[in-house]
Amino acid sequence: MNKKTVKDIDVCGKKVLVRVDFNVPLNEKREVTDETRIVAALPTIEYLLSQNAKIILCSHLGRPKGEFKPEFSLAPVAQRLEKLLNRKITFAADVIGPEAKAAVENIKEGEIVLLENVRFHKEETKNDPDFAKQLASYADIFVNDAFGTCHRAHASTAGVADYIPAVAGFLIGKELDFLGNALENPVRPFVAILGGAKVADKIGVINNLINKVDSIIIGGGMAYTFLKAKGNEVGDSLVDEESIGLSLDLLKKAEEKGVDIFLPVDAIEADKFDANAKTQVVPVEHMSAGWMGLDIGPATRMLFTDKIRTAKTVVWNGPMGVFEMEAFAEGTRAVAKAMAESEAVTIIGGGDSAAAVKIFGYADAMTHISTGGGASLEFLEGKELPGVAALLDK
Ligand code: AMP
Repeated sequence: MNKKTVKDIDVCGKKVLVRVDFNVPLNEKREVTDETRIVAALPTIEYLLSQNAKIILCSHLGRPKGEFKPEFSLAPVAQRLEKLLNRKITFAADVIGPEAKAAVENIKEGEIVLLENVRFHKEETKNDPDFAKQLASYADIFVNDAFGTCHRAHASTAGVADYIPAVAGFLIGKELDFLGNALENPVRPFVAILGGAKVADKIGVINNLINKVDSIIIGGGMAYTFLKAKGNEVGDSLVDEESIGLSLDLLKKAEEKGVDIFLPVDAIEADKFDANAKTQVVPVEHMSAGWMGLDIGPATRMLFTDKIRTAKTVVWNGPMGVFEMEAFAEGTRAVAKAMAESEAVTIIGGGDSAAAVKIFGYADAMTHISTGGGASLEFLEGKELPGVAALLDK
């Protein structure tokens, strides 16, 4: 990585504002149900503690749309962080209000303050310079460790870097190393697997990956746009009509570049979008009018898992079917299992695929599971992430 990290700057005894990604799921009792993102930020926090820094943490949680909403408070996260670090956390119930200001003013070496949800201010997502300046005024140094929001140019991810020296935390370093190495220095054969519903989100990714990979596997709802582009009738399956032309262009480009694209050869189609729908397995050439493909079929599972078994690097983003419903989870499970059993470098690009890998119990077997779905997708697309671009160069 060509950006300075927290190790390249003297943080001893300094006030350090750390943007973390504590956007964790909460249940109705407002308890943290998955602490992965909190745990992912610990190496940076522990390093800063070892340097006696004065640590001011800030994060967003959910989409409160610029106003205080108790269900989006970071208070439960402060409690969980206290347990994980086994030390007291001062939780400030505002961001640029009197509580935060007092807490930051009185902070001592080796202490931690967690500010309330930065998205309680609409200025955050607008990257308002005054808001960013106020946040920056709390500290001598800014450390960005929120990989999950690096693709957003917000006040607390990019704006603050205009006012104080900004460096990367260890999580961002790790994410960029794994994703960057896979793209720039892959052990071959390198296979990318893409799925999910929104084909438009992934056109740019495929376009970039065609220049890097040996083959691309396309499953999930997005596959039907490609199948339709190739002339298949796909019944009521998800199709993005506007992306049909682009899909054809990509198939052509892949052929010119000698990159194999593998599409489903069969599907599990359902008579309605429902966990208890009637289902049947059909070859993609014979999909039924009025039915919709909600998972890849058994022949496709074999085809895709064979390709995964012979790969040396696999990057995966997007489920193979509506895995949230057990009837349509088999394809996603098969891909997760094949990756888990493979000796290859296996990288999960966050979001739904990361959730699926955890649900199916394969998380420990992967080389790297990204904490940022949107951010890793934009990285795979070859875009510069604003939260990374704002950091000091090495
Ligand atoms: P995305 O945000 O584009 O990665 O899409 C993820 C969503 O795609 C998940 O919620 C899946 O349920 C959904 N999905 C996967 N396969 C299909 C399909 N064949 N038809 C409809 N939705 C799908």
